[in-house]
Amino acid sequence: MKPVWCAGCGNYAVLNAVKRALAGLEIAPHEVITISGIGCSGRLSHYLNTYSLHGTHGRALPTALGAKAARPDLTVLAVGGDGDGLGIGGGHISHAARKNVDLTYIMVDNSIYGLTKGQASPTTPLGHKTKTTPYGVYEDTLSAIPIFLAYDISFIARSGVDIDGLTGIITEAIRHPGMSMVHVVSGCRTFPAFDYKEAAGRFAPLPGDHDPENKLEALELAYSVDPAYIGVFYQVTKPTLGGRLEEEIRRAGAAIDGKQATMEQLLSIFA
Ligand code: SF4
Repeated sequence: MKPVWCAGCGNYAVLNAVKRALAGLEIAPHEVITISGIGCSGRLSHYLNTYSLHGTHGRALPTALGAKAARPDLTVLAVGGDGDGLGIGGGHISHAARKNVDLTYIMVDNSIYGLTKGQASPTTPLGHKTKTTPYGVYEDTLSAIPIFLAYDISFIARSGVDIDGLTGIITEAIRHPGMSMVHVVSGCRTFPAFDYKEAAGRFAPLPGDHDPENKLEALELAYSVDPAYIGVFYQVTKPTLGGRLEEEIRRAGAAIDGKQATMEQLLSIFA
């Protein structure tokens, strides 16, 4: 399908970067499922020649988790915006993070609900006037990376919409064994909540001596506004959902005469 995004929308860069990353990793279309929520960025699942599901608002992650549990061989991508991910679906991130589901979640953060014509989202700057906040946003603005760090997501990165940089980060995120979160700072052309060019002018690569396993340092760097760092803030290796389930099955099986039981033996207990 042909994208229907507004001319100049950052979602085009995200789409191109995802395609390039998958091609670069030589992952075939039938080896990928792309699951998205609702919103302009949620349309991305229509424009990729992979398996896809354009789900309900804020529910990309639970669906992606189910897909990975059922088909661990697939590369699972979840895509959504700031309203979808941090508003309606905000409660899902912590639980996917606790399971360390091996998937890549691309959050395209343009600080506005663009598809529904410009209402304030959880990341709209304080004081910004929108249709739902005619006197300016009066709630504090959520800061995505510190939230992801608090949830201990095992790979956390931020990028702007420069295609080369974003392709590199999405490639690393897909390669990471566990939950990877790519926070993409993007501008909405039609309902701008901030000046993207000005924001991009403050981007700087993370300091070369930053240790991605140092969460406290990552937290400090994440709060920096000028420069606004881009790159991999945090990356650790820990068991994934698949590994944890295998361990559970092994432990459950060991309960039968101290030996690994088959599924048939386990079911026979209830016969
Ligand atoms: Fe992109 Fe904004 Fe247009 Fe949506 S409304 S397609 S986010 S520019």
